[in-house]
Amino acid sequence: MTTTTTTTATGRDWRNDAECGDVDPEIFYPLDLDPFGPAVTAAREICADCPVRLDCLLDVMTGEDPARRWGIAAGLTPDERADLFAGRRVSSIRPGAVAA
Ligand code: SF4
Repeated sequence: MTTTTTTTATGRDWRNDAECGDVDPEIFYPLDLDPFGPAVTAAREICADCPVRLDCLLDVMTGEDPARRWGIAAGLTPDERADLFAGRRVSSIRPGAVAA
């Protein structure tokens, strides 16, 4: 994932607090991107507990190449991020999945 904003207002690198820091990164790059499937759900569950989810979302929405969206970031699939980027409602997200 391309990163653009790595520090918080306090100067701390938000990635240090990422819930996924100690998780196998492959979890966030499932082959099955069914938004309600088990692979995406597993990644979403990790993101749901992440204290820096908003930083992550801002980072990915700012730095991600729209033509090359891949993987789960901030609890969102590539299609969901494309919808968000386009200002469309992200309808496949269940309540509480993303609080950003
Ligand atoms: S929101 Fe998800 S992908 Fe982003 S830093 Fe947190 S755990 Fe990682």
